[in-house]
Amino acid sequence: MSKFTVISPTTEKPVKEIELADLAATDLVIAKTEKAFQTWRKVNPGDRARLLRNFASIVDSHIEELAQLEVLNSGHTIGNARWEAGNVRDVLNYYSAAPERLFGKQIPVPNGIDITFKEPLGVIGIIVPWNFPMPIAGWGFGPALAAGNTVVLKPAEITPMTAIRLGELAIEAGIPEGVFNVIPGKGSIVGERFVTNPLVRKIVFTGSTTVGKGIMRGCADQVKRLTLELGGKSANIIFADSDIQKAAANAPGAVFDNAGQDCCARSRLLVQRSVFDKFMSEFEVAVKKFRVEDPALETAEMGPLVSATQLARVKEYLPQGTPIAFQGTKPEGPGYWFAPTVLLPKDANDRAYREEIFGPVVSVLPFEDEADAIRIANDSDYGLSGSIWSRDIGRAIRVSRAVEAGNLSVNSNSSVRYWTPFGGYKQSGLGRELGPDALDAFTEVKNVFFDTQE
Ligand code: NAD
Repeated sequence: MSKFTVISPTTEKPVKEIELADLAATDLVIAKTEKAFQTWRKVNPGDRARLLRNFASIVDSHIEELAQLEVLNSGHTIGNARWEAGNVRDVLNYYSAAPERLFGKQIPVPNGIDITFKEPLGVIGIIVPWNFPMPIAGWGFGPALAAGNTVVLKPAEITPMTAIRLGELAIEAGIPEGVFNVIPGKGSIVGERFVTNPLVRKIVFTGSTTVGKGIMRGCADQVKRLTLELGGKSANIIFADSDIQKAAANAPGAVFDNAGQDCCARSRLLVQRSVFDKFMSEFEVAVKKFRVEDPALETAEMGPLVSATQLARVKEYLPQGTPIAFQGTKPEGPGYWFAPTVLLPKDANDRAYREEIFGPVVSVLPFEDEADAIRIANDSDYGLSGSIWSRDIGRAIRVSRAVEAGNLSVNSNSSVRYWTPFGGYKQSGLGRELGPDALDAFTEVKNVFFDTQE
């Protein structure tokens, strides 16, 4: 076992030492999780539902504690962190209704009866990134457990604290030992073992597109089931006929929330040329007002970046001399701070415009008309999210049907609602999480024919 020291992104001081699992320890937990599957799958649907509701209610009574842990570990604003902990509760409550409603079908066939069953898969390996440690974990383990699977969860090395606490709360809630296990460790050890250990029957991976592609290759060996939630470079499209004031006032939050470390960040801002100057002057006011400060303050809208490494990566996108349209503010002193930054790239070949920076940086390009906006928005390997601002309902419908992305919003920048499916087009992912159909990703359909002939 090796150790990892968690560092506070706000103070740069050590917070806690975490033991990292090695290969042997990982295999032991996976074996225990597989054993627990044999009993968890047989727990009566009503009892499984009750245990999940209990888990949700224990999380609910620890919202503040979990939120404070996330502020400390990840530098999330306290407002966001409370929402994130609440999201875990809501997802558990939502999927607690599933065990008693996991319906199959009865299909008319000749000479007998045909029934389908939704069977659990077994051990699910969930690999979580550092940007939203709580919600992304919950989107996996909520529906996975509800469908009768057991779970091993690997948090990101640098942000393990809330996941470890959620593992303890599950036990407090009465979820049987071995059903939900959090294994802190390195991606190259614990994460890779989830992929190679045959007892793990499905991987749910959220993280970078590069690592996701490697995991997809690894899963091919065992035809292991896989859900991928990967990177993004989403477009925020502002038409001249939109409420420019509202679109501009909301644009900073759409990209700088969570310090831009959001797969759904609208980091490409496309503005119709006829309103470009008007939009930019209102946007500048909003960016300069955006409160970047100690994330523990109730007023904070943005905290620091998660680590020194991430800060260095973001800075790399802005070498000396990069033309910057304008920037917001940031505190002085310790902490991995980066001021909200607005770039005006020369064209769509610009590196900062094309690549996912995962920091508070947005690139703005003008467009001429509807067709031009759609063409520019779709000129990306990614397709996760995006926004369309227009008062013309026909245009909003046409453009939202034409943009190749999994989660779009019209006259809003919200991406995630646990009631609705979430996932990406193109290199932003494979499969969908959340919403009513997420259970399908955690079950196999079994078809059984009963011959009724004499
Ligand atoms: P990352 O790919 O470096 O790591 C993600 C997780 O995978 C971590 O737990 C890491 O330890 C693990 N890992 C690393 N190498 C591994 C390997 N070889 N095998 C198995 N596991 C391995 O990503 P990150 O830097 O933690 O997160 C940022 C990325 O996540 C961004 O690209 C972002 O867009 C993406 N993301 C996507 C979504 C979405 O829903 N689409 C949501 C959040 C973040």
